Amino acid sequence: MPELPEVETVVRTLRNHILHEKIHHVQVFWERTVYESETFIQDLTNQHIQDITRRGKYLIFTLDKGFMSVHLRMEGRFYMTPLDEAPKKHTHVVFYLKDQKLEFNDTRKFGRIKYCTEDPVILLTQLGLEPFDECLNPAYLRLKAKNRSIPIKTFLLDQSVIAGIGNIYADEICFLCHLSPLKKVKTLTLKQWQELIDNVRMVLSDAILAGGTTVRSYTSSLGVTGRFQNTLNVYGRASLACVSCTTPLKSIKIGQRTSVYCPACQKG
Ligand SMILES: [Zn+2]
Repeated sequence: MPELPEVETVVRTLRNHILHEKIHHVQVFWERTVYESETFIQDLTNQHIQDITRRGKYLIFTLDKGFMSVHLRMEGRFYMTPLDEAPKKHTHVVFYLKDQKLEFNDTRKFGRIKYCTEDPVILLTQLGLEPFDECLNPAYLRLKAKNRSIPIKTFLLDQSVIAGIGNIYADEICFLCHLSPLKKVKTLTLKQWQELIDNVRMVLSDAILAGGTTVRSYTSSLGVTGRFQNTLNVYGRASLACVSCTTPLKSIKIGQRTSVYCPACQKG
């Protein structure tokens, strides 16, 4: 599943290629990819792409009138292709621009595209703070964690606390903080919350610089392939030696999600 750094990479890449372009025509091949498919094509046609931004794991296209939000979910991705080329296999929506087309391609069909007249940032208020928001501080996290017995791993994945952290980076962040993914959030000190914030930002900015990670078949749009997976310390390395102390890494399930950690380094 694309995580925040991948979505950020897609946003930056699309900004470089299609900002201010006009959508001349839209084709929808798989209706369930878009909300309100009867009006979707009409709503999008002849609009200009004024801006492309990210909120959590959503891509938000600001148009002349209204907005288009996209969630890539498991395998969604964008391709820029020549106008005269047939759409790729698994392409469900095509946006025809001036000299090229933008294809939304999704082998698993979980991705969703929605047109709305109101700013979806307002509609997405159930999302927590962005990792780089200056309001994200130890006091905010301690308040969110107050009296809660959930594991830190589950807390990091809670999009209403911090928006955009997924399974891969949650494991990496716990490792860098020397915290067991099972540690109960109500027991963290302010100092530990500060370390956690520092590591959240470090891990995500490193990954954005590397162009996002590539796991399974996911690649960022336009041939941008992430290299961050080469620097993952724990994710996907169950039973391999810890990079720090060589103890075999352990794999456990926390809230249905696989978590990999070092039982020696992550005792906190
Ligand atoms: Zn270790």
